[in-house]
Formats: sequence, structure tokens, C-alpha cells
Amino acid sequence: MNKLLRTPVIAGNWKMNKNCEETKNLIEEITPLVKKANCKIVLCVPYTDLLPALSVAANTNIKIGAQNCHFEDHGAFTGEISAKMLSSMGVEYVVIGHSERRMYFSETDITVNKKIKAAIKEKLNVILCVGESLEQREQNITFEVISTQLKIAFKDIINEDLEKIIVAYEPIWAIGTGKTATSEQAEEVCYFIREIIKQLYDKKGADSMSILYGGSMNAKNAKELLLQNNIDGGLIGGASLKSADFSEIVKEADA
Ligand code: PEP
Repeated sequence: MNKLLRTPVIAGNWKMNKNCEETKNLIEEITPLVKKANCKIVLCVPYTDLLPALSVAANTNIKIGAQNCHFEDHGAFTGEISAKMLSSMGVEYVVIGHSERRMYFSETDITVNKKIKAAIKEKLNVILCVGESLEQREQNITFEVISTQLKIAFKDIINEDLEKIIVAYEPIWAIGTGKTATSEQAEEVCYFIREIIKQLYDKKGADSMSILYGGSMNAKNAKELLLQNNIDGGLIGGASLKSADFSEIVKEADA
């Protein structure tokens, strides 16, 4: 399938940044800069900012996402937020399996799989993050790591639900470090991800899946990364907190 048939996705991951007021201000700044964009634009904000974000982004081309969810609908899980709660607010996207969640909050491939299933049940769009550590890359086990992450994440996910899932390849060594994967490194793994999806499902599912790159993507390096055949957009951390930088990346995705 021609890459041009997949709509590019530019998603911001604000991480634990911005209060409600700052959220409104930043989305108001971003809105006019991206209003003519052809790509899909998603801002994944902290839970506490979801309501103001949804209200400011209403009637714009910006979709709002959360950065995590719990896999149970409700119950004794102090401090957690369920996929069901997110969908009831009008949230449309959720990031699942970000490396910071895996690293600092002990998320495993198995909990990632449960969260994806919960999110799909609630009709949320999932941005599933996979990626290897520097050690794993140096040990030449990148492909094994990614393949295991994907096979467990997609366990019991049926073909019809694939359209709700976007995969983001985020090498851990490139996140927040200023060290971007080269376009060749990123393309090689994104191509591999598409091959695994083809093995697990079929060519159609693999061809139509959006695969993003994330890891220190910015206004300067976005162009080359986004030109790659298997890179359909970006998951942007640091650069999504600045309206000018984020909108420049959106422009590159549209180019
Ligand atoms: C991320 O948090 O998903 C990310 C890619 O961060 P950064 O762009 O800051 O490396």
C-alpha cells in the first residue's frame, strides 16, 4: 500500500506538564497554527487537564488523548483512571505502554495487552508504544524485544480492531535525550513492526496501520524522519510543549 493512503498522525505527549490554565493557553496558541492541517492531530495531556483540553479543542481539528488508563472498569484501584472513565468524558485517544510507564510504574507487556483490550472495549483509539533500551540495541536484540512487545500487546486483539490501534516506535535511548534515531534506524524498525503485524494478521491490516516514530523528534529532524516509507507520523514529547515547534512538525507531516 502506498504510504500516501495512510493519514499522517502527529501526537503530542505532554507528560506531567501544564496545569489547567496553561493547557487552555497552549491549545489556544496551537489551534490557529494547525487549523489547515491535513494530518490527524492529537494532544495527550495529564488527566487533570483533560476537561479543559476537551473544551478548548471542541470544534477544532485537535483530538484529545490521555497518557494511560487502567484495564478494569472500576474498583479498588486508588489513584487510577479507567478507559471507561476516559471515554465517558469524550476522550478519543489513549497512549498505552509508554516506556516511562513501563520503567517507573512497572507496566509489563501483559498489563499493556489488558489496557489495550479495555481501551478498545470503550472505543478509544490506542497509541501503543514499543521500543528497546540502549543496552538491548547494543546487544543486537532490538528486533527480538520489539517482536515480543508486539506479540503480547496484540494477544487476543481481533483483526477488526486493528483500525483503532496506532503503534509508536520509541527507542528508549532517544526519549527526552536529544538523541534521535537516524531516519535509517527508525525506518528499519518501523518496517519490521509492519512485518510483524502482517505475520500476526494480514497484509491489509499491516498496510493500513499507522506507525509513528517518537524520540526527540523536533522541527529540524522531523522532515527526514517523516519522509520514510514506514513512518506515518510522530509521537512528540518535549517539542509538543511549544506551539511553534509542534506546528512546524505538523507542517512537515503535511508536506
Ligand atoms: C515521548 O515522550 O513519547 C517522547 C518521544 O518524548 P521526546 O520527544 O521528548 O523525546
